[in-house]
Amino acid sequence: MKIFKPGKFAFNTALVISSISGIIIALTLAAGAHPDYWWLSMVATLILFFSVYVVIMRALDRYFYGNLRIIYRNILLLKSPQSSVIEKKIPDHEVLPEINRMLIEWDQGKKEEIDHLKELEIYRKEFLGNVSHELKTPIFTIQGYIHTLLDGGIEDHEINLLYLQKAAKGIDRLISIVDDLESISKLEAGELILEHRTFDLTELVAEVFESIEMRAREMEIELALENPDERHYVYADKERVRQVFVNLLVNSIKYGKKGGTTRVIITDGADLVNVEVTDTGIGVEPQHVSRLFERFFRVDKSRSREQGGTGLGLAIVKHIIEAHGQRIAVESEFGSGTRFSFTLKKSK
Ligand code: ADP
Repeated sequence: MKIFKPGKFAFNTALVISSISGIIIALTLAAGAHPDYWWLSMVATLILFFSVYVVIMRALDRYFYGNLRIIYRNILLLKSPQSSVIEKKIPDHEVLPEINRMLIEWDQGKKEEIDHLKELEIYRKEFLGNVSHELKTPIFTIQGYIHTLLDGGIEDHEINLLYLQKAAKGIDRLISIVDDLESISKLEAGELILEHRTFDLTELVAEVFESIEMRAREMEIELALENPDERHYVYADKERVRQVFVNLLVNSIKYGKKGGTTRVIITDGADLVNVEVTDTGIGVEPQHVSRLFERFFRVDKSRSREQGGTGLGLAIVKHIIEAHGQRIAVESEFGSGTRFSFTLKKSK
């Protein structure tokens, strides 16, 4: 492709126009028999050459830079369509490099956006696969019991009540999966609006202890709160924080050892309250620890399902803590126990 060079074009045009005009002037002066016609025609030709050259260069400059500035302005508008764009005052010779820089930056941004969309697509597929897998197990169980009952089992007094109870348990499990899925999708879509208020964390832990006391007793696990008389006021969404404690404490029972202890330690910092939930359970092997907060991750799938786990509990916990602008950490010693620690904002 031939590249248009404005300087060369102006030079050639000026040369042609001034040469033709010079010849005409020379001929006119010669016809009038003027003695200095040679010098005069030379001077007139040179003046004409420079004038035409300058005029053409200026016209071309105005035309090109005018159009380049329109492109520059449109790129700025595309980058931020809502805001009224304040065009940077830049000299003409910087317009083209600036457009170039913006296009490279834009291209980079688009690539990152595409990578992010690809990641989301992979996540969506994985999530759907996991969800259908999770739902299938209880659905097939319920289906099995119902069909057995319909095929005559209903008349068998030895199994009818038992199978109905098992089917009902399957339905409870389906409900807990759907509840967890609803929570996680709301949390991940950022739809969850936290209702912050001031409350006493000690009181909340005592309430949660009470609600899971039966389960703990079944596993002969002691639930202990250190310094139960101390008050620790935090500014957070009480119901969501309750969910955090329920998930962590129920896990400490599910993955606990008979006769063990689950301890909650709350300590006040300058602006934050630190919470530790420690158990003396089965612990987690080091290679799995970093994956515990991933949705649907379970170290031992069958133990988790047996215990009614959905594999979403810790992912929900992490989302809730992060929605509060805080962090949660986990440490574990395989065979000895696990410690979760997180912070919450202290009430002023
Ligand atoms: P689940 O519904 O399977 O309990 P979670 O997200 O709550 O799902 O936990 C994910 C996995 O992390 C569990 O399946 C279990 O393997 C492990 N885990 C969670 N809490 C503990 C704990 N306190 N002690 C040992 N392992 C744990």
